[in-house]
Amino acid sequence: MSTEQATQPVRTTCPYCGVGCGVLATPDAPVAGDPDHPANRGRLCSKGAALGETTSLEGRLLHPQIQGRRASWDDALDLVAARIRHTIAAHGPDSVALYVSGQLLTEDYYAANKFAKGFLGTGNIDSNSRLCMASAVAGHRRAFGEDIVPAAYEDFELADVVILIGTNTAWCHPVLYQRILAARAARPEMKLVVIDPRRTATCEGADLHLPLHPGSDVALFNGLLAHLTPEGTDPAILIARKDCPDLATTAARCGIDPALLATLAAWIAATPRVVTGFSMGVNQSSAGADKVNAILNLHTATGRMGLPGAGPFSITGQPNAMGGREVGALATTLAGHLEWNRPGDADRVRRFWNAPNLAAGPGLPATEMFAAIARGEIRLVWIMATNPAVSMPDSSSVRRALAGCETVIISEAMAEQDSVDLAHIRLPALAWGEKDGTVTNSERVISRQRPFLPPPGEAQPDWWAIAEVARRLGHGAAFAWQGPADIFQEHARLSACENDGARLFDLTPLANLDPSGYDRLPPTRWGELRYDAARLQAKLVPTPFRPPLDAVSAAFPLVLNTGRIRDQWHTMTRTGKSTRLHAHLPEPFAAIHPNDSGAIKNGELVRIETETGHAVLRARLDPGQRRGSVFAPMHWTDRFCPAGLINAAVSPGIDPISAQPELKHTPVRIAPFAASWHGFVLSADRMGTDLAAWCALFPTAQGWRHEVAGHEPAAVAFELLRARIQYKGAWLEIHDHATGLHRGALVCDGVLRAAVFVGPDHRLPPRNWLAGLIGSAPLRLDERRTLLAGIPTVGAAPEAPVCVCFGVGAGDIRAAMGRGCVDLADIGTSTRAGTNCGSCRPEIRALLAEPARQAAVEVVEGIVPPGETALWGNTLVQTNM
Ligand code: SF4
Repeated sequence: MSTEQATQPVRTTCPYCGVGCGVLATPDAPVAGDPDHPANRGRLCSKGAALGETTSLEGRLLHPQIQGRRASWDDALDLVAARIRHTIAAHGPDSVALYVSGQLLTEDYYAANKFAKGFLGTGNIDSNSRLCMASAVAGHRRAFGEDIVPAAYEDFELADVVILIGTNTAWCHPVLYQRILAARAARPEMKLVVIDPRRTATCEGADLHLPLHPGSDVALFNGLLAHLTPEGTDPAILIARKDCPDLATTAARCGIDPALLATLAAWIAATPRVVTGFSMGVNQSSAGADKVNAILNLHTATGRMGLPGAGPFSITGQPNAMGGREVGALATTLAGHLEWNRPGDADRVRRFWNAPNLAAGPGLPATEMFAAIARGEIRLVWIMATNPAVSMPDSSSVRRALAGCETVIISEAMAEQDSVDLAHIRLPALAWGEKDGTVTNSERVISRQRPFLPPPGEAQPDWWAIAEVARRLGHGAAFAWQGPADIFQEHARLSACENDGARLFDLTPLANLDPSGYDRLPPTRWGELRYDAARLQAKLVPTPFRPPLDAVSAAFPLVLNTGRIRDQWHTMTRTGKSTRLHAHLPEPFAAIHPNDSGAIKNGELVRIETETGHAVLRARLDPGQRRGSVFAPMHWTDRFCPAGLINAAVSPGIDPISAQPELKHTPVRIAPFAASWHGFVLSADRMGTDLAAWCALFPTAQGWRHEVAGHEPAAVAFELLRARIQYKGAWLEIHDHATGLHRGALVCDGVLRAAVFVGPDHRLPPRNWLAGLIGSAPLRLDERRTLLAGIPTVGAAPEAPVCVCFGVGAGDIRAAMGRGCVDLADIGTSTRAGTNCGSCRPEIRALLAEPARQAAVEVVEGIVPPGETALWGNTLVQTNM
């Protein structure tokens, strides 16, 4: 890397969500938002702003490994090629599969897809994007005949009504949300509507929240379609009308107040400028494709598409979910938006690739792929940049399938990753900051990911490993790329191949990009079709309402909905390195409505049980949770909390149209986790997750915090935990055997090295003050005196931050309110909270609205009869039925 490269910020792209923000990055310096990138214009959210804290080599896979032992690249690649050759010779091409990822760059994705479909002859390549947007793909293809997104971020800003359904945009796509709020601040007449069973952070900025029954989205949009197109005779409209003849019927089906629905219908009727943004809450459903088409039907039939500020918009989860769709890395698609079932397309791909052995047809989508591995039909799987042992539904079955598979190969940047543990051959991959290629965001903007760090160890690009294996299998000429620019050029030429306007995905202008043009490539949108009404002739697709696959029962009376939190990404292999990002919500939790919690108290551990499995999580009683439903985030892994893997409990049902798993509707029951003691261990070192029956750990600024609970007598547990501390020094201890309360602090040369606190229940002192003392300057006398109380004698104990950028907690914000701060601007001036990335602004707003919220909670809790509406801040809420 040249000196100039090392000192000049490199323009690259955030590797997290599908907003695809531009980033200015320099080694050893905090990253900044790229003011020239059209997605973010300089903004970054908390995850993007912390990217600089996640590029250490700690936990990286830096060398190839065979059966856990270091190997040379040649030996590892020879073995991969030999295993593929043997497996196909013995069992046919469909005995081999690739499971790839929306984290891959387009060039890696293209190489993997060409290798599998064109040269191994297997259709069995699927992406983890199957879990996040396969339903959007299916919906677009049914309506438009091609997977196209007919709007852009700018349309959210131009709309008069923005509807966000099944998306906690404030937390999961924060920069897009901030753009929407900024547009609304400039045009206060603009309306923001959130449709979600939960009252999420996104609702804090909304004018209207419709807390619909989980899974009733199709009925809602059918009802709106019927109401807004009374004269229509298309079968889709007739079916919608039969399903939901009027708003009252629709509201009853959806479990919402008819007045709220009537308000939404009136707002849509009043303007052609309506945008509907949707994401996982729509896609991750056994009726996901129908939900997408119900949304598209409304926009198509009412003419709210092909205009500035109008259209349906799929907000993608991963940074390159869209790139994977372009290269056809789903088992059900071909490359370049070509289709298996469209006459001539497969032959077109065969001729373009000069492929000797094009797959016979579509392969198995993700859930079926792992089932086929479990049955022994797929005998070799090559996993790239994903962690199916954690992220797949019914993840315990996926682990068992991988453990029993003859050959598991993984290309991965991280050594400490659950699926890596199960792989026979491990290939070290480049990570963000080292990779070189392109990604495409939700609005079809292709951006460069450029390297600003040297390749560590022996890590290599994924496309290189694929090309090397292809060469060993005798296909070197077809994979003789010198770099990612060659691959991108080939990908662009395939999109243009015999296209003649038949496919909207056409990169002809980029098909002759040479390496220097590729290096300089600015963010570029393909297919400018937003206001091209002729090209956006969508079909209406009949979407009769189907209830979710798995219904609640007396045994499993609640509905589990899994999702994401503000400051973590996927299975935390990257965000898990940032102490700041752990500060907001450090433990896996289950959000439960207070009226559903029974004997479970806020902060206790709760066991979530389903027919598929179970997980133990921290209970957060949340009146914003719809009654009858439980929310749990999906980020935690074996590395952070082995008993808290919620996907082990998620049922494996899928949408029959899109094959996307249902991650939002698993019937569950909840019960207290019967621990005889609870505790925490603070230490300078990570002590592992085997400290107790339940253990969640995470880094703090000074070391590691371990939250623990178990079944032994408390005194025994204390001794076991204390014995795990490696430091030598004087233990200060207190023991109350009558109550099961045991506390110890290890002080070496006046410095606190570790603390072990055990008690009969979860009510233990706050940890932040003690955690901040670990390994820091010698203790003062006043600190020593109160170590075992766990609270300072001077000043207040620090609290978990709301604003992770500046470490501002709820207490600081309330104190600022006490000093007269009444809005976001005041709070920002007084505390700096919310003035950087803006991800915490919804929570600050919620704190500002606390008196109003309290009133609304009382209403929700029964002062106003069920089904009536109340005002919450400036937002209508519906009382629970
Ligand atoms: Fe990255 Fe945040 Fe932008 Fe998403 S919104 S791309 S996570 S900075």
